[in-house]
Amino acid sequence: MSIPKEKIDEVRERANIVQVISEYLPLTKRGQNHLGLCPFHSEKTPSFTVSETKGIYYCFGCNATGNVITFLMKRDGMSFPDAVRSLAKRYGITIPEVQRSGPDPRDLIYQALRASMEYFLRELKGPGGDEAREYIKRRGFEGEIAQRFNLGYAPDLWDGLSGFLRKKGIADASALSSGVVIKKEKGFYDRFRGRVIFPITDVRGRIVGFGGRSINGKDPKYLNSPESQVFKKGETLYGFYQAKQQMASAGAIFVEGYFDLLALHKHGFTNAVATMGTALTKEHLRLVKAYTNTVYALFDSDAAGRNASIRALDIAIDEEMDLRAVTLKGGKDPDEFLVKFGAEAMKEAIAKAEPLMEFFLKDLCGRLDLKTPAGKRKYLDSVVPMLSRIRNVAERGHYAAYVATVLNIPQESVYEALKIPRGTAEKSGRGTTDAVDPKGARLSELTVLKVMARHPELFSESVSVALESFSDPVLKKAGSIIAGSISQAKPLDAASLMDEADDEPTRTLIAGLLIKDDDGFIEDPARMLEDSLKRVMNKGNIKETTRRMIERLEEMGRTEVASDIRKRMSTGAKRRS
Ligand SMILES: [Zn+2]
Repeated sequence: MSIPKEKIDEVRERANIVQVISEYLPLTKRGQNHLGLCPFHSEKTPSFTVSETKGIYYCFGCNATGNVITFLMKRDGMSFPDAVRSLAKRYGITIPEVQRSGPDPRDLIYQALRASMEYFLRELKGPGGDEAREYIKRRGFEGEIAQRFNLGYAPDLWDGLSGFLRKKGIADASALSSGVVIKKEKGFYDRFRGRVIFPITDVRGRIVGFGGRSINGKDPKYLNSPESQVFKKGETLYGFYQAKQQMASAGAIFVEGYFDLLALHKHGFTNAVATMGTALTKEHLRLVKAYTNTVYALFDSDAAGRNASIRALDIAIDEEMDLRAVTLKGGKDPDEFLVKFGAEAMKEAIAKAEPLMEFFLKDLCGRLDLKTPAGKRKYLDSVVPMLSRIRNVAERGHYAAYVATVLNIPQESVYEALKIPRGTAEKSGRGTTDAVDPKGARLSELTVLKVMARHPELFSESVSVALESFSDPVLKKAGSIIAGSISQAKPLDAASLMDEADDEPTRTLIAGLLIKDDDGFIEDPARMLEDSLKRVMNKGNIKETTRRMIERLEEMGRTEVASDIRKRMSTGAKRRS
């Protein structure tokens, strides 16, 4: 199933990134690069840059970046191997198919699911579908919207679908693994009975499961397919396939239920997706992140909705996404709200959406007595873990100022609270290693990488040791990827290095380091590197990792390098004290 690495390299080298991207958006030649309107965020002046020679794209507006393969993955929702295969086909590169024993079992599952949908659609249209059609009409989703989402019906029968599948030549085992039938002693029977059916698709539009709403009063009201080899609830968004193109320009609207989603699409909000009743996950956000950074979350206004929004905030901070809370007054859920107040009112509510962090900070004010020291302490205790994880300095500062105002305490006190790692604060007091100046530390680390990217010839063993002690995980990962390439004496090729990073932030960083070379002139790179290395090695106390590196170097007999590092650390410490 896997594609040989040299084939991936060949595809990446042969595929013309300008040609491929031009099919999605107009590009104009500007100097060495091509420029266009970014497909991943909405903008009026082009900041989406494609470098033909480097084989990568980079957006100076939203930092979206990647090579020709990741472009197809993001734009068309393809998997990595699919993107490679489609480019290979286009450029006439043959990829040897690794031998498999028999067909992919997942193909059989997809087949069973497709046939099931055929059955559900037929049943809705058929004479037995009266009640279901009436129900759909009463909810207001007949006609075009029902067609767009392929609504169907599972009649109240035990063997309707299982019989249909057997006639279609689908093996019982495949029907069972697809989750549409259940096995009992006497045989198989249908999972969905007496329900309106919502087919759930993956990013490519393939059916991966179903949701069913009971229309005969039987519990549970909603029933979903069980997880299977092709269906993971926490990684799937209902309606994503229909909404993804619109998301790029309008952001994504998150709702919980099937009907909420249909209601939004019906009223023109075609950028809505649904979590199908589960809590928002990191994977949900990552799906959307390929298209937009902005997420409008329509949570219910009750306590459960509030908890859901805090959980969502927790995830969004680490994904560095702009998550906004939309409050719907007067209506319990989005479907009801739209029926009662219409699309204009929804538009207004979305326009007024506030960043979830702000929503959280304000909401907390109403829950604590901030006039008392105990109330202030509780407030600070609740917000510090959230704020301290915001990576953007400006954004973190913005909220720190807000907290200071609310609590009527100096801003420095908030910063102080943010610096002390929680849990260790009581034990060791202030001044723990990395807390000294995380911003400064990051800057020195970044400088090391910048110099390295432009002057690979300056790479040495002490740089490699310094990389080990980087405190910023993204910088550390990018550093080790770049270092790996340099030490193999390979040219620093942005497009291929990007594929080595398995996460977006690292990819973005690598692209940023390697593409922005127009302004990359460094007067005295050796000196700059030397200075930054010193700062990296001397931040706070000696880092455990560095100490271990020294030990290892000594074991390896590299005493010279080891003593060089020791010396650097001691001079730095002297100067500081
Ligand atoms: Zn962009």
